[in-house]
Amino acid sequence: MVETLGVITEARNNSNVDELADIAKAEGVDYETLRRRVSLGRVIIVRNSKRPKVRPTAVGEGLRTKVNVNVGTSGTIVNVDLEIEKAKIAVKLGADTIMDLSTGGNLDEIRARLLEASGGVPFGTVPTYQAWIEGVKKYGGISIPSEWFLAVVERHLKDGVDFMTIHAGITLELARKSIKSRRIAPIVSRGGSMLAVWMVENGEENPYLKHWDYLIELFKEYDAVISLGDALRPGATADAHDELQIEELLNNSRLARDAVSRGVQVMIEGPGHMTLDKVVADVRLMKSLSGGVPYYVLGPLVTDIAVGYDHIASAIGAAIAAAAGADLICYLTPSEHLGLPGVEQVKEGLIAAKIAAHAGDLVKLGKRAAYEDVEMSIRRASLDWDYQLSRSYDPEKAMKLKTQFQQDLSSCTMCGQYCVFILLSRYLSGRQLNKDELLEKYGEGGSLVW
Ligand code: SF4
Repeated sequence: MVETLGVITEARNNSNVDELADIAKAEGVDYETLRRRVSLGRVIIVRNSKRPKVRPTAVGEGLRTKVNVNVGTSGTIVNVDLEIEKAKIAVKLGADTIMDLSTGGNLDEIRARLLEASGGVPFGTVPTYQAWIEGVKKYGGISIPSEWFLAVVERHLKDGVDFMTIHAGITLELARKSIKSRRIAPIVSRGGSMLAVWMVENGEENPYLKHWDYLIELFKEYDAVISLGDALRPGATADAHDELQIEELLNNSRLARDAVSRGVQVMIEGPGHMTLDKVVADVRLMKSLSGGVPYYVLGPLVTDIAVGYDHIASAIGAAIAAAAGADLICYLTPSEHLGLPGVEQVKEGLIAAKIAAHAGDLVKLGKRAAYEDVEMSIRRASLDWDYQLSRSYDPEKAMKLKTQFQQDLSSCTMCGQYCVFILLSRYLSGRQLNKDELLEKYGEGGSLVW
């Protein structure tokens, strides 16, 4: 493994100039601003010296909102080829990170194959699953030694995992409180529930908290990112912003500040289910408590009733969260709450999350994110169908919609000959759009009005 000082230390010493310069250029930000944010832990760079093909990906303040796709087997469906197909389609459609949440089959082998399928995209895992599943078998029940949880983390790091969900914010006391709480859904995090049961049954403190110093050393050695899990995220809108969620956020924020002070990159995971009016406050509170480390949100889903359409419920919350400063969005698929997604649902979920991220960026980043929108508007107003279809998130689907009534029109079948753009150009010649002029004036490289 190539020895590194770690991203934060390198930024503090200004010794990773080339890497930072490349990212600053790609993101359209000033080098010094980026360096400072990385040195403060407000921007993380996910990279891997053990896997040089991983493209360094920056997540955090002032940068484009990134999208994560979860793949992985379940306890009931173990079809590794299907999960590989999902990972490949996610990479092809522009997922920024991939997470393996497998819980069925040979987990080491599946992780190795998914790592390979993910190519240069940063790869994350939730080691608690494997620690629990294999630990129960190995130790004949849940009397698993706390060190075992760390051994599995180390195994994932050795295999080349770039970031990991570590549920260190749920304490024994919080686990006990959650079980007795009046929440509709006391715990909806799979890893969180495993840890809560382990803590309460064994009467022991959270293993990741107990061995926090060792964890920090491990992540430092491998230059990997800790993603502090939210075991107590609300799983129902009625449970949002209760004492349990906020207490865990406080714990995670303290841990995040500690990790950054010791030169380890960290982000914090967020909800979950919450109504629209709470989303902005949630992002601001997290940023303020944690010192501004990146926020990795699961939606949030802004309603509990969108069965079969939860990718839309979560995209609505994700757009608001991104606009308010959330940095990484975990996609949700139409299968959420119903079953393991298929390839088509992965595609639908990823596209919904990418639209949400971009919608948020139009507010968060302003004109830095707006050139594509301006160009699309100009092409739309000039009835340039080739451009519009080719730039769709799903050109095949867009073409099907455009041609479903099989009419060959210069406009579309919505208004036909009464298309506003045809009427304007025919009767108001002075208002006629000149596509080339507009593109020169407002398109990329031009002076965008925003
Ligand atoms: S026909 Fe109507 S919907 Fe279609 S491009 Fe023209 S204005 Fe838009």
